[in-house]
Amino acid sequence: MLKVCKFGGTSMADAQAITAVSKIVLSDNDRRYIVVSAPGKRFKQDEKVTDLLYACYREAASTGDCSKIFIKIRERFKEIVSDLGLTLDIESYLNQVEDGINRSASSDYAASRGEYLSAVVFAAKLGYTFVDTEQLVKFGEDGIFLADYTNDLISAKLKKIKNAVLPGFYGSYSDGRIKTFSRGGSDVSGAIISRAVGAAVYENWTDVNGFLTADPRIVENPKMIDCLSYKELRELSYMGANVLHPESIFPVRLAGIPINIKNTFEPSNKGTFIVAESKRPLNKDRVVTGIAGKKGFTVLAIEKSMMNGEKGFCRKILSVLEHKGVSFEHMPSGIDTLSLVISDEELSGKLEGIIHDIRNVVSPDSVEVHSGMSLIATVGHNMANRAGTAATLTAALSSSGINIRMIDQGSSELNIIVGVDSSDYEKAINAVYHAFY
Ligand code: ASP
Repeated sequence: MLKVCKFGGTSMADAQAITAVSKIVLSDNDRRYIVVSAPGKRFKQDEKVTDLLYACYREAASTGDCSKIFIKIRERFKEIVSDLGLTLDIESYLNQVEDGINRSASSDYAASRGEYLSAVVFAAKLGYTFVDTEQLVKFGEDGIFLADYTNDLISAKLKKIKNAVLPGFYGSYSDGRIKTFSRGGSDVSGAIISRAVGAAVYENWTDVNGFLTADPRIVENPKMIDCLSYKELRELSYMGANVLHPESIFPVRLAGIPINIKNTFEPSNKGTFIVAESKRPLNKDRVVTGIAGKKGFTVLAIEKSMMNGEKGFCRKILSVLEHKGVSFEHMPSGIDTLSLVISDEELSGKLEGIIHDIRNVVSPDSVEVHSGMSLIATVGHNMANRAGTAATLTAALSSSGINIRMIDQGSSELNIIVGVDSSDYEKAINAVYHAFY
């Protein structure tokens, strides 16, 4: 039962955590391929190695010498290697990396070196082969990840190696230049490797016991989710539940490999399983699997009388967004009204231009801008074909005095999304949580 394990930044943060990780790996012979992140924070105010590496890149780009910042990374790795009692010549690796950052023009190269060094050290600790992902995880010139090509390269390489440690987070373009995934991307690397070696399970080791039904910073002591489907995970992580990188689902989902989120610091806890829809336990008592939400949305409310009879009205509006390179989240509509819900990040610097172009292409009676909106997603397969879920949700919000500014249910009935004023956000999440749990 082959397992791929990915260990996150807190699991690689210092020698003590790394020792706990090696016990976990060595306690199970099935844990054959290990993917690691760069050392993360050891305490709240600490700095992540990846953040320091980005700072080194900026320093080198402006002065040609990153040594003042790099010293922190140097000390960090030297301390890890000496506390682990390894004979590894880490200085020569560090010199090579520092030199590379001073000479390289790429911030991706700099950022990738945390995972690289972490994997070199952990391979030495375990006595496993270090396999660099640099030439195995490939991207096209447009930056698009080449899934099938990568899959072939990794499976051919690892077929010949029984145990290996691999750095997460990066790969390269066809000309060999390093390219990273977006932040938190080692999760994606672990999923890609799981697919390539046909793992029975992808263990994603982090510093929490798994997925919670709601954000613990908002809801006191929310319940754990023992099992959820890939689809439910996608909905929840897209809407802000950030235990796992949202893109890490695709490779394992394709191969039907379950993901098991586990806690390095409490390894006996079962954690959360993420499985295919057909494999999830039919827990009929659980209507809602989880609740997640995000702040920072703006609504553009467009009104025009007789809008519903005007052919191509929506297309013209959406082509304005397309030309501006802006994606929208929702588009609720009435007979003479149409609203666009767009994240503030997408809109940044483009709002005036969008309104101007909408006025030009559809001559609306009015376009109003309502900012400061939050979206809350209530997610669960069991909501489908069950009367009363939306009623429970809206009743909970109304009895807490919260006005629903938008409501949208996906046609698969997997989610109900409500838009509320951001000042009501925390109160709304609590109201929905307590209505269902
Ligand atoms: N080290 C990278 C980051 O901090 C990638 C990862 O940890 O997954 O984003």
